[in-house]
Amino acid sequence: MGFTVRKKAKDPTKPVGERELSHVVLERAGDYERIPVSAFSPGFLDKAVEEGWIKAKNARDPQVGDIIEFKTHPPAKYRVTAARGRYCNVCDAKLEDDDSAEKPGALARDHVAAEHPDADMATAYECNNFVEVEKVS
Ligand SMILES: [Zn+2]
Repeated sequence: MGFTVRKKAKDPTKPVGERELSHVVLERAGDYERIPVSAFSPGFLDKAVEEGWIKAKNARDPQVGDIIEFKTHPPAKYRVTAARGRYCNVCDAKLEDDDSAEKPGALARDHVAAEHPDADMATAYECNNFVEVEKVS
């Protein structure tokens, strides 16, 4: 987990505030030769979108199968293998999202109560605040 990104300016001689982004370098992406699956935090993706160094259909909340492409040389591509959200630890189901509700997680607790009445509610589901990805190219 964890990427280090270095931004490259088109003209590094210009003052910092006036530099145009040329491309980015994923400095810690080398890990992915050995460990092909990792995760992006929401903050990482939000920053990448704001600064314009990734391309993705829905980069702020990517879903399973989506491709996230970094503007590197050559472009680095990652496929989403798990989206953000709540997951059942008993049956591995992706659960309904209700983060904007008064009591977030109620739908997950409803699922556990209905489907796995003997499960320990404290460990029966989890909320992943990251996007799991695998390197494609
Ligand atoms: Zn379940």
